[in-house]
Order: sequence, then C-alpha cells, then structure tokens
Amino acid sequence: MSAAVSAAKGRPRLLVATRSEHKLRELRELLELEHGDLVSLDELGVPGDPIEDGATFETNAAIKARFGVHATGLPTLADDSGLEVDALEGGPGVRTRRYAGEDATDEQNNRKLLAALDGLPPDRRGARYVCALALAIPAVGGPRGGLHIRLARGTCRGRIAMAPRGTGGFGYDPIFEPASEPAGGRTLGLWTPAEKHAISHRARAARRMAPRLAALGF
Ligand code: IMP
Repeated sequence: MSAAVSAAKGRPRLLVATRSEHKLRELRELLELEHGDLVSLDELGVPGDPIEDGATFETNAAIKARFGVHATGLPTLADDSGLEVDALEGGPGVRTRRYAGEDATDEQNNRKLLAALDGLPPDRRGARYVCALALAIPAVGGPRGGLHIRLARGTCRGRIAMAPRGTGGFGYDPIFEPASEPAGGRTLGLWTPAEKHAISHRARAARRMAPRLAALGF
C-alpha cells in the first residue's frame, strides 16, 4: 500500500503501536520521516492493548503491529525490546518489562536485576539489548484484514553495572554500560541521546527498517 493511500488528507501517517513515550520519542528521532507523520496509539485515541504472548521479540512486535493495523487501517510500526543477560541464560528476554512483576516500575526492575547479579565481577555481567521492529502493511485488494509483516532486528552489547548511574534514557539505561565503556564507566543513563542513537539496538533496527519505510513513501 502506498503511504499516500492511507492518508485521510495531507501527509501520510505511520502509526507507532506503543504506549511508551520513551520508545515513541526515540523512534521519532531515529526515523526522521521526510514525507510522512508518525502518530501514536494515544494520539489516535485507540483503546486496549494486544496480549503479548509470543516467545520471541519478533513475534511480540508483529502482534503489536497487527493490532495497530486492525484498529486504524494505517501502516503500523511496533517495537518489542528487552535485555538478554548472559548470567541469566538470556533472561529476562521477552519478560524484560515485567521482570519484577506485571506492573513493575523501571526502578523495581533495575533493583531486581542488580540483586540477581549480586557479587558477580564485571566480566560475568555481560548482556545485550535487543530490539525487534515489525512493520505491518495493510494489503491492497487482498483478503479482508490481510496484511504483510516486515521485520528488522538490532542489538547492542554491554554489561550490567554494579549500581545505577545517570538519569538519561529510560528503563534499564542507568544500569547498562555499553561495551565501548570500561568496567565501571558511563552507563547509558549518562550518555547523550545522540551518543545512544549512534549504537543502540533500536537505532540499528530502525536503520535496517528505513528502506522498507522509504519504499512505502515515508
Ligand atoms: P516492551 O515494551 O514489552 O517491548 O518492553 C521493553 C522493556 O525493555 C522495558 O522494560 C524497557 O524499559 C526495556 N528497554 C527496551 N529498550 C530499552 C532502552 O533503549 N533502554 C532501556 N530499557 C529498554
């Protein structure tokens, strides 16, 4: 579907199926759409949320993107992301947001992760952020409700700090030291947004998704 087809009037719109103001802000900064506008579920007044019961980031991103298309008819981008910690055999993975409980705050999640790694030296605190982006495109002339899904993944390697530092970014950023930092160096909570965008999992996934969005006219 060309982006122009989905536009009620004026610039075409791309829905970002997230309730996270942080993800929305980062995706706006990363994608810098030239020919279209990025809108959120809240801006369009879309109620409800899909059940994210997939076993992978990609499956959950696709669930959210499909939900957006079905609710609005707009081409929809969705982000599912999280942390894979070596010492936790890749956990918390798809449970990253709910690590310390269903409605856990970032602070509670950070505290639980620091406790889980208590006593481990820096070289045993390796981790990576993962971001899966799914783009759901309504199929033109296809069966009712048909759509295509395109996926892109980005990762960012680092380690879990000994204690939180910095107030920048969001989520686990105050306890995530990118691999380029020495042990005990700056966490992402102390990096500038521009520095984070140069290496982040979300930036890498967005870069891979950009040609798909350009092909749709965004
Ligand atoms: P989701 O909203 O279900 O995809 O959950 C994402 C989880 O990963 C949340 O706990 C976020 O805080 C965390 N997360 C994802 N990306 C980042 C990031 O760039 N910085 C910090 N935490 C992140």
